[in-house]
Amino acid sequence: MPETSVQVEIAEMDIAVDPENTREYELARMRHSCSHLMAEAVRELFPDAKFGIGPAIEHGFYYDFDLPRPLTPDDLAEIEARMRANQAKAEPFVREEIARDDALRLFAANPYKIELIDGLPTGEAITTYQQGPFRDLCRGPHVATTADIGPFKLQSIAGAYWRGDEHRPMLQRIYGTAWPTPEELAGHLERLEEAQRRDHRRLGRELDLFSVSDEIGPGLILWHPKGAMIRYLVEQFEQKEQLARGYDLVYTPHIASEKIYKISGHLETYRENMYSPMSIEDVDYYLKPMNCPGHIMIYKGQIHSYRDLPIRLAELGTVYRYERSGTLHGMLRVRGFTQDDSHIFCTNDQITAEVAGVIDLAIDMAKVFGYEFKTYLATKPAKAIGGDAAWATATDGLRQALEGRGLPYTIDEGGGAFYGPKIDIKWVDALGREWTGPTIQLDFNLPERFDVNYIAEDGDRHRVAMIHRTLLGSMERFVGGLVEHYAGAFPAWLAPVQAAVIPITDGQNEFSHGVASRLRDRGLRVAVSDQRDRMQAKIRDAQLQKIPYMLVVGKREVEADSVAVRLRNGRDLGTMTVTAFANLVLPFIERRSLYLDAIDEAEAGALNVR
Ligand SMILES: [Zn+2]
Ligand SMILES: [Zn+2]
Repeated sequence: MPETSVQVEIAEMDIAVDPENTREYELARMRHSCSHLMAEAVRELFPDAKFGIGPAIEHGFYYDFDLPRPLTPDDLAEIEARMRANQAKAEPFVREEIARDDALRLFAANPYKIELIDGLPTGEAITTYQQGPFRDLCRGPHVATTADIGPFKLQSIAGAYWRGDEHRPMLQRIYGTAWPTPEELAGHLERLEEAQRRDHRRLGRELDLFSVSDEIGPGLILWHPKGAMIRYLVEQFEQKEQLARGYDLVYTPHIASEKIYKISGHLETYRENMYSPMSIEDVDYYLKPMNCPGHIMIYKGQIHSYRDLPIRLAELGTVYRYERSGTLHGMLRVRGFTQDDSHIFCTNDQITAEVAGVIDLAIDMAKVFGYEFKTYLATKPAKAIGGDAAWATATDGLRQALEGRGLPYTIDEGGGAFYGPKIDIKWVDALGREWTGPTIQLDFNLPERFDVNYIAEDGDRHRVAMIHRTLLGSMERFVGGLVEHYAGAFPAWLAPVQAAVIPITDGQNEFSHGVASRLRDRGLRVAVSDQRDRMQAKIRDAQLQKIPYMLVVGKREVEADSVAVRLRNGRDLGTMTVTAFANLVLPFIERRSLYLDAIDEAEAGALNVR
């Protein structure tokens, strides 16, 4: 969350709500009230239900229950019906402050609430809210009556450990959403459906891009040929851009001795994210969780003068970090991933220009992939190394780089790492969701720990300034995000198969292979649909595979040495020679266009959408 917001207590649990942003605040209050309305209905249905917590969350709310039997979808309908009935009664939410002893008595039958009460600091006021016959331990605030709760919908049932602890009881969690108007509720549900349709795990299977295998292990991605082609194209493009902008490519090993992680401090501060070591000739080696130490050792391999700086080392570096199995999620949250990692070593005077260079590259990347973006400047956190003056100078350097580029940004107050301020750029995808994008991080820590220097003009050794930078982040997460952003319909330059040649009958198979080979000579990735299917089935298959161009070939096309061109969106471009087709599409592919042809581009331009 951007840090202009503060933690406001909306429930038994906290949700980050910006008090200045009254809409956000009112939504959270209304949604939390809806969770009470739901709890009231659940108790009507299960008089012995025990209650956990029921906070407002982004886009909705949930409540955790300890119930005598598993909930079914029919139960959700019943609970929803009872909620509507109670809402119609316009039951007021009544707040009451009570003594601790009274609270303990009131909730005696409910061990979870007792635990919550016991966790409240002595001296803190304990409050309850009651609507109708239902009274709950709660800090509030709430809307005035149940009639003030907007249109809502219960969405799903999930298991949730009490307090997120797998050693505690598993409760049943009901998720719901509530909005001020029916239109907003409908819009939200539509967006959810669209997000499900675009889910990269589903599309990854349907388009045969990647898989995860139990035998290999959870959180470890197997890139299939089509997914690997997309990644290869993204990487090639990025490497080319980096080389053009003065980066040097490096490679570092996947394992490293404990010595380096002792110096870097990772064994102290990052160990819980690292895998257990392996012993090689009595020295512990670790799978690398980060690329920085390797790059520092490369820099330190030589004495550098100020004239050598800046030095920009870049690596597609594969790192391994421990994530609990419960948190793994397709390609987005994994245990091994490849970062487009770079470390820039420069003088303090060069920081602003270097950061500006990274910002330019980040903006160019966003344009190519068709992402909007939002920018955050994260400042000094409460626990930090380095003096205030150093932080102020460094943060100012980042600010100047942003302002020099005329980029609007939000201050993420206290959101920097303990070792330096940073710029976070979030990609905003086709559904308006924010994804982790480029990060540009200054580091006061590692140059000290590794004693990283350069020889200045005065002949003395000076501490180098170090910038960590990723643009796409993890290739796994980035490509997974792209799948959802494009709903699997990759622009032609990224499509694993750019054109499918579709013979109407077997009689055109040989000609079709000839067409494919002529197009491959022009650099296109082409498949021939020569399976024994009806033409309609082949076209449907190519459409499901979201292949940008379909080239249908019948008798007439063979005679005229031509192809009938169709786009994956169904639009017909008519019959043309193979050369004419190549000349039509290659310019779009070469400039990495998001569009398949000129009409596509003109229409998107007119609508001002992708
Ligand atoms: Zn409450
Ligand atoms: Zn780094």
